[in-house]
Amino acid sequence: MKLLEERILSEGKAVSEEILKVDSFINHQVDPVLMQQIGETFAAHFRERGITKVVTIESSGIAPAQMTALALGVPLVIFKKQPSKVFGDNMDQTIVTSFTKGTSYELTLAKDFISQDDHVLIIDDFLANGEAATGCIRLLRLSHATVAGIGVLVEKSFQPGRQKLTGQGHEVYALARIKAMEKDHIEFLPADDETQS
Ligand code: 5GP
Repeated sequence: MKLLEERILSEGKAVSEEILKVDSFINHQVDPVLMQQIGETFAAHFRERGITKVVTIESSGIAPAQMTALALGVPLVIFKKQPSKVFGDNMDQTIVTSFTKGTSYELTLAKDFISQDDHVLIIDDFLANGEAATGCIRLLRLSHATVAGIGVLVEKSFQPGRQKLTGQGHEVYALARIKAMEKDHIEFLPADDETQS
């Protein structure tokens, strides 16, 4: 998605060869117009797949996932990073290792919101090692739901997330694919919306 690549080039900061900061339009301040265009782009690709729900992990995935769910006309389910007392025993959990923080959290889903009848699109801001997406897939399996695909804004293609997920038979659809980065230089691969219909 050219618009997203342009924003990454103009406002993104490679804080190392592995971590990209996009705090001014995705992760801290959010550009709602860009999020709307992102949501419409994901929806255009996944529209005919019989998706019943969009899921994401709190918190940075919420803005693009909400716009995608709106464009698809389905609910958004937000997987929590900590259990809430209001869930009682009515929840499923799985441990996920955070790429940016190097710590683990318990990804949590109240059992009410995903069922075996659901065909689910996972949306997240970044794909690095694929831990977050794999955690979502584990939780969806516990609910006997099926996975329609994984849509990410930014894939760091030099990390193994895509290979891991496609190796398990899942489609990854990335709107920007970073081949390599260093301070003041970010190199892209063709994004999936540029190479697929
Ligand atoms: P993974 O689980 O694929 O290893 O990492 C994906 C998660 O880590 C995303 O949900 C995202 O929040 C965070 N993440 C991974 N790489 C980056 C990065 O370069 N920049 C930012 N801001 N977040 C990242």
